Parts: sequence; structure tokens; C-alpha cells
Amino acid sequence: MYPNRPIWAEVDLHAIRDNFFSLRERVGSGVKMMAVIKSDAYGHGKLQVARTLHGYADWFGVSFVDEGVELRQAGYDEPILCLVSPLADELDAVIKYRLTPVLSEVSLAKALDERLHHHNYQEKHGYPVHVKIDTGMGRLGVWHEEAVAVVQQINALTTLRVSGLMTHFPLADGEDKSFALEQLRRFKRVKEELAEVGITPELCHAANSAAIIDLPESHLDMVRPGVAIYGSYPSPHVSRELGLKQALTLRARIALVKELPAGTTISYGRRFTLKKDTRVGVLPLGYADGWRRSLLNKAEVLVRGERRPLIGVICMDMCMVDLSGFEDVTAGEVVTLLGRDYSGKIISVEEVARWMDTIPYEVTCGLSSRVPRHYRA
Ligand SMILES: *Cc1c(COP(=O)(O)O)cnc(C)c1O
Repeated sequence: MYPNRPIWAEVDLHAIRDNFFSLRERVGSGVKMMAVIKSDAYGHGKLQVARTLHGYADWFGVSFVDEGVELRQAGYDEPILCLVSPLADELDAVIKYRLTPVLSEVSLAKALDERLHHHNYQEKHGYPVHVKIDTGMGRLGVWHEEAVAVVQQINALTTLRVSGLMTHFPLADGEDKSFALEQLRRFKRVKEELAEVGITPELCHAANSAAIIDLPESHLDMVRPGVAIYGSYPSPHVSRELGLKQALTLRARIALVKELPAGTTISYGRRFTLKKDTRVGVLPLGYADGWRRSLLNKAEVLVRGERRPLIGVICMDMCMVDLSGFEDVTAGEVVTLLGRDYSGKIISVEEVARWMDTIPYEVTCGLSSRVPRHYRA
């Protein structure tokens, strides 16, 4: 949107491809891989990531119908799963753009069947849909104890074919994997009972990044990595042996440098007071860019290979950094807020997530569209 702003995110598409290959190696060649590129590829840019993984990813996973439409309009022909169930009035777009919906109930399946009849859909194998089984996420999906009957009813609709069966783990990234394993048992029970009545979807899938890394028994026919593609681990409890590479870097050029006397307060609310005379740098980014106010008294910035604290409350479009000791740093110099700087030092997404008291996902998704993305391919 503002390509010339003196702040930018650099997205390393090589890292994304390497991470994808590491995950591929983890699951083996017999398992299909869906690259989850919802929420603009976790803030990295959906179309650029799709281009990077085209030819390697078997499927793309998005949240909304409109995201799937955008991929189709950009020319991608891979199967696309819309992870959030569509509303009935989105079904015509689902059909037109050959998107695969996730269904959790019979009524939406009937609505889709009705629209397919309306469009005179003739494909003899039926329109592929994936049915989600709620094995303990408590979100989308048919509750597992009711799933067999529901899948049978959906599969009986003349235009539809249940080609996939899926579930999702709320806690594959915890230290204790027992609930995820119980979910897997529930999921497999549904699968077996369906097989007994002659329904055998060709794609059963469950694993997110955490499960790919730590629960190989959950890989099944396909896996759905998201956060790991972008180089972050879902939580500190997940094994780090894959050697993922963080794809995202956030840099800014200093807008102003000035000396302020001891006792001066910095920024709104006067919540930070300089203890000594200090060289202060003003950076031209703030919470409207996703550099959140909750970073107060926590965030650091890499300046010439050294960590320097952000001081004072982060404003909408600006924040301040302590530049003590850098007598010759002036306006225009580039500093690094996230990722690796030229010296090789790194501020990781996980570290920023800790500072923000959130998870890595929210850090990268939260970088707003005001932050121009520069791509390294
Ligand atoms: C977002 C999402 C994923 C990817 O999860 P990560 O933890 O980012 O790997 C997989 N499956 C579903 C259903 C999702 O919504």
C-alpha cells in the first residue's frame, strides 16, 4: 500500500521453501501436504507464498471463500480447502471456483447439493467435500459420537462425495500429548465405523505443525502445516530439531535522533523516565503497524548488532529507542525490530510473542497491511 515507507518487512521465500522441505522430509513422501496460507499466509503474503510452494504443496488451505477465489483468479489450480465453513450464500462462489468446503452439518450439505443441482452439476464422482469431525476442539465439526450418521447423510446426497475427513487438535503443542492421542483414537474410530458402512474418504487429515513435528502417528493421508512453514515453532514445548528458518524480518529507518536530559519522560502517559542524559531515536512505526502497545518495557531493537530497549509507550505511528552510546547513529539508519540483522543477531518471532504475551501466529498476522512487504526469492 505504501511501498516507500521507511519501514518494511522482508520475507525470505527461500526460508519458506526450505521449511516446507524440512516438513516434507519429516512426514515422508507418501503423505500429502496442504500448505496453510490463510490470513495472507500468516502475514507473509498469500500469493507470493503460493507461488513459492506451487509444485510442492499438494493442497492449499485458506480460511475464507474469498481467499480461495483470489488464488483461483491468480491462476492456481491446486485443490483448495476453505477451513472455515462457508455460509449458504457463498456456495455459488465455492462451486464456481472449485473450492473444497469443510462441512460440519447436514443442512449446509443439502444447500450445496441444491446449488449443484441448480447449476446442473454432472461430474459422475460427485463434488468433493471434506467433513470435519469434532474430536475435542469444540469449534467446527460434527461431534464425533454423531459423526457416522451425519457423514452417511451427507454422502447420500446425489451430487456430493465425502472425499475427506478431518479433525483438529487444540493442544498438540503442549507438553502432555495425551489429549491429542485420545482425539486421534476418536477420529480413527469414526473412520473405521464409516468403512464398515462402505464410506472410505481418500484423504484423512489431522496434523497441524505441532502434530507434524511431535506426533508422527497423526500424519495419516495428509498434513496441514501453517506456522512452521514460516519458520516459527508453535510453542516452546515442540521439538526444535527441524531447524526451521524464520522467514520474516521487520526493519525501520530512524526518523529523528536527539539528546534529552535526565528526568525527561518519554511518550504518552509519561510511563518512562530517563535516568540519565540519553540519546533517543524516534522510529516511524507503531501499533497501527502491529507493533503493539503491550510491548511497553519489553521490546528490544537491534542497532548495529546490539540490542537496545524501546522506551515509553508505543504510539500509533511511532516508538522510541534508547541509543545511548551510539554517538554517530543519525536519522536514516536502518534498525531491525524482528529477525536477523547484518551482524547475524536475531530477534525471533517467538521472543516478540513472549513480549506481547501472545503466540507467534498473532505477531506475524498482526503486522498490518500498512507495512510494505519486500520479497527475497
Ligand atoms: C490454521 C490451521 C492449521 C495450521 O496450524 P499451524 O499450527 O499453523 O500449523 C491446520 N489446520 C487447521 C484446521 C487450521 O485452522
